[in-house]
Amino acid sequence: MDEGTRDSDMNFNQIFIKKFGNTFQQNVDLSHYSWFNLGGPAEYFFKPKDKNQLIEFLIEARDKNLKTTIIGAGSNTLIRDNGVKGVVVKLGSNFSYTKINKNIIEAGAATFDRKLSNFAKDKNIKNFEFLSCIPGSIGGAIIMNSGCYDDDISKILLSINVIDKKECIEKEIKKEDIKFLYRGTNLPQDLIIISAKFKAVADSKEKIEKKQNDMIKKKKLSQPSQIKTCGSTFKNIDKEKKAWMLIKESGCDIFKEGDAIISKKHCNFFVNNGEAKSSDIEKLINKVQKKVYEKTGVNLELEIKIIGD
Ligand SMILES: Cc1cc2nc3c(=O)[nH]c(=O)nc-3n(C[C@H](O)[C@H](O)[C@H](O)COP(=O)(O)OP(=O)(O)OC[C@H]3O[C@@H](n4cnc5c(N)ncnc54)[C@H](O)[C@@H]3O)c2cc1C
Repeated sequence: MDEGTRDSDMNFNQIFIKKFGNTFQQNVDLSHYSWFNLGGPAEYFFKPKDKNQLIEFLIEARDKNLKTTIIGAGSNTLIRDNGVKGVVVKLGSNFSYTKINKNIIEAGAATFDRKLSNFAKDKNIKNFEFLSCIPGSIGGAIIMNSGCYDDDISKILLSINVIDKKECIEKEIKKEDIKFLYRGTNLPQDLIIISAKFKAVADSKEKIEKKQNDMIKKKKLSQPSQIKTCGSTFKNIDKEKKAWMLIKESGCDIFKEGDAIISKKHCNFFVNNGEAKSSDIEKLINKVQKKVYEKTGVNLELEIKIIGD
């Protein structure tokens, strides 16, 4: 929001609080909303209780020229130390649900990937197993086209329902109209995903359970757990050339910046070892990017998202 708008509307805050009650808050510590456990405050924080409240809020925000930033589970997002201006939007618990109708599974965008994976397994539906290895929400997984072990969310998706921040209306977008990339899509930034539909293909529970457990085991062996990280920092170049290989090859796997370190188990995982600041993580990112470029000529592209000032 620009200063002019704020000065001309002294009661801005009260109006929003009156309208949206305790779902709208000021000056909220965002460090709990990122897996790095880092980040300054959100100027404003809004947790809509349902779709109608979200639309009502987005109309107000649009009319008042208020910047909005949507976050999911924060497992792929580094929040800067000075926090985020405008309103950070995080979908409330009513956006976390799963249901099945014939051969279609629907999930709210705030549903954890693992919850959807287990729901599909309980209904004897295959191809959702990989989601049990990804610690985010369905909204984040779609934006990132998240996946592992040759699966990704685009392969099971049928459509998404979104609220367009400019038009403030709900729309359905079919999978065919979305271009999925490696860890990304061509979806415009002004969409908030509220739910998604997936194709349900039946299989035996035994097979599904085995695949899910095998994937979880494989993940545990190759990646660190119980640490403050957002997973892979950089995108892989291709199937053969992984980002971790370039980091190792360039001798960056021992780099650190304050308490921002690189995981010994997987050197594409950058870690807040306790007392790091977001700026330490960012400095470490820049240092590694520069060295890898000098050594290999490859410009590593970020997989994690960085938000804030
Ligand atoms: C230990 C660990 C392991 C990981 N392993 C994998 C892996 O194997 N494969 C993989 O692909 N990723 C992996 N990740 C990264 C991360 O879990 C995924 O990218 C995940 O899908 C992000 O979801 P999120 O809800 O946490 O998104 P966030 O980090 O909250 O947001 C990511 C992006 O999605 C946008 N977004 C979130 N919700 C919505 C919404 N409702 N509407 C519109 N935009 C939205 C945000 O604005 C942001 O741009 C890992 C992370 C960790 C910490």
